[in-house]
Amino acid sequence: FSVEPGQVLGIVGESGCGKSVTCLTVMGLNDRKVATSTGQVLFRGEDLLTTDAKRLREIRGNEIAMIFQDPMTSLNPVHKIGKQLEEAALLHNDMTKKEARARSLEMLKVVGIPHATRRVDDYPHQFSGGMRQRVMIAMALINSPDLLIADEPTTALDVTTQAQILGVIKKLQDEFGTALIMITHDLGVVAETADEIVVMYSAKVVEHAPVQEIFSRPRHPYTWGLMGSLPRLDVNVERLVQIPGQPPSLLNPPKGCRFNPRCEYTMSVCREAEPPLVGDASHEDACHLDSATKEREAASLNEVLASGAAV
Ligand code: SF4
Repeated sequence: FSVEPGQVLGIVGESGCGKSVTCLTVMGLNDRKVATSTGQVLFRGEDLLTTDAKRLREIRGNEIAMIFQDPMTSLNPVHKIGKQLEEAALLHNDMTKKEARARSLEMLKVVGIPHATRRVDDYPHQFSGGMRQRVMIAMALINSPDLLIADEPTTALDVTTQAQILGVIKKLQDEFGTALIMITHDLGVVAETADEIVVMYSAKVVEHAPVQEIFSRPRHPYTWGLMGSLPRLDVNVERLVQIPGQPPSLLNPPKGCRFNPRCEYTMSVCREAEPPLVGDASHEDACHLDSATKEREAASLNEVLASGAAV
């Protein structure tokens, strides 16, 4: 997949499907002694998989930044918020401490921390979960990165704070023209924020399309399952669909299509041959079903979801 400046790419899938590992690989944060990465990760033409550690340190936190799920584990509990922001600015810029402090304050205001001038000298434990996540966003954007990776940035937050944080990320991403990769298990989050969606299952991309296309004409049975399990407020859904079974072990994945033990459309070919990702930039998927069946099932799923009937 690729993501352009100003664009939002959502990566969705169940816990353990490889979403975070994919992004840690992009950041070069997988230990090269124990992890094997193949293929290419091109950032402005530079392959990050073969770039040396020194160059990766220059890129991380500067040209590519990441927001993690739990801000408490990313912030140092014994240092003041302001000091941590200043360090992030000083590490990659030729500026004085005074300038770094001014930049930190400016970023705290940008992400909506009330009374930023006073709160800049507070410790992380003096902030609520939502405010800590705002601080992490400020830290990620302090060096105006070209690519921002947000790994489940709102999972640990209540729904009201989640909406606020998503709003802050989207507003800043629009303003700065940053390319954004949003990792989530929540289709609702990507529906609101993403331009394109990649659906992952068992460490494989199973579907990839613009957001409108995925929601109106999903082609993969796993995506159908995800959509059926989405709670709706606009219609009275009697019962949410459940995808039976468990995600497979990545150490010993099933032969053929990795979704075959849980798929209600499984054919014999599915147990033998892994379906390739086929299609074009407007929509690609990895499933052996024929196009007519995919179209028909997507239309019937949309009809059922629109009516709110049990799936
Ligand atoms: Fe289901 Fe077969 Fe398609 Fe896999 S390839 S999703 S098992 S129909």
